[in-house]
Amino acid sequence: MTQTSRAPARIDRFFSMPSARADSWRDLVGLAQRWETGKGDRKAVEAALGELAVMEEFHAYPGIRLMSALRDRLAADAAQGFTSLARNISSAIITRDYKHDPAEWETSEDVANTPADRLPPTLGRGEAHRPYFEVLVVSPAPAARWQHMAGEFRRLRRPEDEFIYEPVFVGSLEDAVCAAIVNPDLAAVIIYDGFGQRSRHDAPVLRSVLEATGLAAAADERGELSLFLADGIKSIRPELDIYLLSDRAVEKTAGDVRASAIRRVFYQIEEPLELHLSVLEGVRARYETPFFDNLKRYARRPVGTFHALPIARGKSVFKSDWIRDMGEFYGINLFLAESSATTGGLDSLLEPTGNIKKAQEMAARAFGADHVFFVTNGTSTSNKMVHQALVAPGDIVILDRNCHKSHHYGLVLAGGQPLYVDAFPMTEYSMYGAVPLKTIKSALLDLKEEGRLDKLRIVDLTNCTFDGHIYNTRRVMEECLAIKPDVVFLWDEAWFAFARWSPFLRPRTAMGGAEAIEKWLRDPASLQAYEKQQKELGDKPSREKLLATRLIPDPRKVRLRVYQTNSTHKSMSAIRQGSMVLVKDVDFHNVEAQFHEAIFTHASTSPNQQLIASLDVARRQMELEGYGLVQNAIEIALDIRREVNSHPVISRYFKVLGAPEMVPAEYRSAGFVDALTPGTTWGDFLRSAREDEFCLDFTRMTVVCGSAGFDGTQFKGLLADKYSIQLNKTSRNSVLLQSNINNTRSDVAHLIRVLLEISTDIEDRLANGGEAARQAFAARVKSLMTDVPDLPNFSHFHESFRKDAGKKTAEGDMRTAFYGAYKAEFCEYIPLRSPDIDRRLKEGPDMVSANFVIPYPPGFPIMVPGQVITKETIDFMRKLDVKEIHGYESARGLKLLKADTPAAKARRTAA
Ligand SMILES: *Cc1c(COP(=O)(O)O)cnc(C)c1O
Repeated sequence: MTQTSRAPARIDRFFSMPSARADSWRDLVGLAQRWETGKGDRKAVEAALGELAVMEEFHAYPGIRLMSALRDRLAADAAQGFTSLARNISSAIITRDYKHDPAEWETSEDVANTPADRLPPTLGRGEAHRPYFEVLVVSPAPAARWQHMAGEFRRLRRPEDEFIYEPVFVGSLEDAVCAAIVNPDLAAVIIYDGFGQRSRHDAPVLRSVLEATGLAAAADERGELSLFLADGIKSIRPELDIYLLSDRAVEKTAGDVRASAIRRVFYQIEEPLELHLSVLEGVRARYETPFFDNLKRYARRPVGTFHALPIARGKSVFKSDWIRDMGEFYGINLFLAESSATTGGLDSLLEPTGNIKKAQEMAARAFGADHVFFVTNGTSTSNKMVHQALVAPGDIVILDRNCHKSHHYGLVLAGGQPLYVDAFPMTEYSMYGAVPLKTIKSALLDLKEEGRLDKLRIVDLTNCTFDGHIYNTRRVMEECLAIKPDVVFLWDEAWFAFARWSPFLRPRTAMGGAEAIEKWLRDPASLQAYEKQQKELGDKPSREKLLATRLIPDPRKVRLRVYQTNSTHKSMSAIRQGSMVLVKDVDFHNVEAQFHEAIFTHASTSPNQQLIASLDVARRQMELEGYGLVQNAIEIALDIRREVNSHPVISRYFKVLGAPEMVPAEYRSAGFVDALTPGTTWGDFLRSAREDEFCLDFTRMTVVCGSAGFDGTQFKGLLADKYSIQLNKTSRNSVLLQSNINNTRSDVAHLIRVLLEISTDIEDRLANGGEAARQAFAARVKSLMTDVPDLPNFSHFHESFRKDAGKKTAEGDMRTAFYGAYKAEFCEYIPLRSPDIDRRLKEGPDMVSANFVIPYPPGFPIMVPGQVITKETIDFMRKLDVKEIHGYESARGLKLLKADTPAAKARRTAA
């Protein structure tokens, strides 16, 4: 973007590292051109090069040789040569051509003056492209030796290597941490014992990032730097392979429990080729996609098919006069890769024993789960599977009322009783936030007081929410476990699977939180902390005290049982409907049989091969380039946020909401405001990520458009029809934009240009239309921004559906209500505008919803079967100006259950 800030303290600069790097090079070329043409001086070039050189040390390209060639030309006053080399490097960084073009690594003099056989071994000239990565080498050797060492690594290359890599050298713990943070191309780290601790540099951005990680400070207290560094790098990028070379007793190091972060320990003077092969092998272990690889092999084989899938092998398509265009459109491979067989190594998704099993195990490794199950019918199905596997009829599930409908339907099917908890409302934007921990704890404490805690099975929450609220997963789980140590968690992370590849977001994922708790459970200090808190709480702590205290669970009693579902297709390169269930459950063996039944119930017996393959491939991509891709998605989001909110014209009509608007201050005790607020430091940001009850996913951007006179639906239509910009969802006065791993800076530029055009149109309209136009605009904005309907909370289930429910707790038997509505004679309809409704609200009898009523937006049920309809809900429905309302026919009105259905009666007589 045009106004990339130069201020080192701005923390969004960190996320901009890849593009900030490109910008710095472009600036350097600009300065060099001025120097060359006599308009500028050499000093400016020298300063810019000096600044940039620090960052470049963490990348293999342009590397030591090209950087010193630049310095030489600068020293020799060779402006023209300098400019041309800088321009080449700059363009290679942007195009990434250096990853496969050896010429990019050479200067013109190299080629002109060096005999061909003396050229440094490069990327293997003339060979087919091989995937390229970089290896961080942490070494005590003096920097003067690095170039020589790089040559030794290159000499190990063999024509049959599948991949090609370049080493990046650093000499200290601090530099190693910085490199791991700023260089997304790293795939492995080689640590030679004996390196130092402090960085060679004192660049302020790096320093502030380092301080925030806490790794440098903690290292001061430890002796064993190698293991400490390995641990630290894993906490930033768990996907990296780490190799340790030591000349001490390697057998002992390898046996150290802390060495679990290390893939292999070598004795320092052992065969370097072994190390080289291990590095390649480690990358291959991530590159391998067992199902996809086999599917490609399968497609190449001649196969005669006598199963029921005519399009397999494409013959029914390509031989047809009438549908051949389908074949031409999709290409032959789609059909060659189609089969309904589970032979030929294709494996069965329902009962995997071969490459699907292996692919799932690799996904489990990537996500930090114990088990992963691929699902080909979307997370809608994943959620139903988990509910069915874990919930028996009558069990209670604490459930966010705003969660995706698959949870509500899952409970209808499973017969579980939802105990709805409400998210905090954001009335001015007609949206909900997330469920406060206090509300969740209250529900648990209520159940405890009613003696019904044993009925509670799952706490089920959406992380992050549609609008980007991220829970403090660790804290939520710890405090719930303190009340019920064996409660199961289901985190619907439909949108959030990518978060695994961001060191900032990972601790707030289901698996990240679970990992932290697992570590905590193993620490002997945890029991002491628990006992100390028990003493402080005393014998019978009051409810207020329990709600106000950050509760510590009893580590001896905790059964850590965590499930995550994710729509892989929503944040990674999987085909639509590709979804996964992640399991980290110490008691999984007790429910495994049920879990498989749930898969058999819900999974198609004809799962789509291409979908399974895409899940396999999506995992490969994230393990090899997810870190950089996610960083890019966050950078794009921060760019958009900054550009919209600071643009002199756009910001008059549009705004991207930040934490102050989206998260009430009481849930931001760490005081975090916004990554873009001047003065915000890395420390602030990380403290917030660790402690705050909710934080925001930057990549989900709520853009207020009501202040430009558009309701969400209108604005969405305008962007789509006129500008070909598709967006995620709408609310009354806002739309949701989402950046993901496919966005580029050009997308940002396009969006900003469009918003500017729309804003300028409004300006013109207001300027030319006179007072009348201004008044009409103001009235429209007021109606959108201030006359917003109150959001109705969940009311309660009707008594007839609460046979065994507790007095204080709100769970209900939704399933009986749902099936009650199958009998037409038990139902009645009342039109929404009928005065009958107002009469019944005043005089009764209660109106009981017969079904789910789900308006889009907001997209969650404002009525569920068996729920008593209150005035708030009616008011909301009457004000609602959306067209799409599932479960509501405007011609007939609200569908209600007559209060005296036999089912309801039977329940009451039984009671
Ligand atoms: C999209 C979504 C689902 C359903 O996922 P599909 O893959 O579309 O079936 C479930 N939960 C949440 C929170 C979602 O956003």
